[in-house]
Amino acid sequence: MRLVVLGAPGAGKGTQSARLMQKYGIPQLSTGDMLRAAAVAGTPVGRQVKEIVDSGSLVPDEVVLKIIAERISRPDAARGFILDGFPRTVNQAEELDALLRVKDMKLDAVIELKVDESALLGRIEKRATETAARGCAARADDNPKAFRTRLAAYRKMTAPVSAYYARQGLLKTVDGMAPIDAVATQIDRAAESFVRI
Ligand code: ADP
Repeated sequence: MRLVVLGAPGAGKGTQSARLMQKYGIPQLSTGDMLRAAAVAGTPVGRQVKEIVDSGSLVPDEVVLKIIAERISRPDAARGFILDGFPRTVNQAEELDALLRVKDMKLDAVIELKVDESALLGRIEKRATETAARGCAARADDNPKAFRTRLAAYRKMTAPVSAYYARQGLLKTVDGMAPIDAVATQIDRAAESFVRI
């Protein structure tokens, strides 16, 4: 099964993608996690993107495309994967289609988590507080200033990706304002219509 999970920053993509990974035994491929890990490891890519990620802007398409092309070619992705935070631009979506076509693969569905914008900043601040309470460093972009940049990038560059997938008949929209378990149930119900592992 090959899925994309779409949604605004703070919509719950990571939470639901992690659950889907457990349920279906396929990897969750989060470009945000991969970029943050590269930054922490201090790789050339990490050094190139750290400032951009921390500010809340989008990393250039070619950087994430290279990471994704390499990642989906690994053996653990052969049975499927959940893309979390990618694609974030229509160009990334088109390039993903091209990458998959070469491998004779296709996406099964795109799950979009719809959340009221007014709820997003509160969720992100909550995550930052909870992370700090666990004694871990909060994400550098989980603050009001970077959040505004992330939301602006989402509206301008990522919102059109939903229409791109709707045109392909792949888009399933889920109410991301519901409690985590209720969102999960909605996703599972949507998944019943396309699961074919
Ligand atoms: P969220 O969805 O909560 O904003 P992510 O962890 O998915 O968080 O992404 C964090 C940051 O990583 C983004 O703001 C951006 O800088 C970078 N990033 C992640 N995925 C992409 C992508 N597909 N294209 C460009 N930049 C990306």
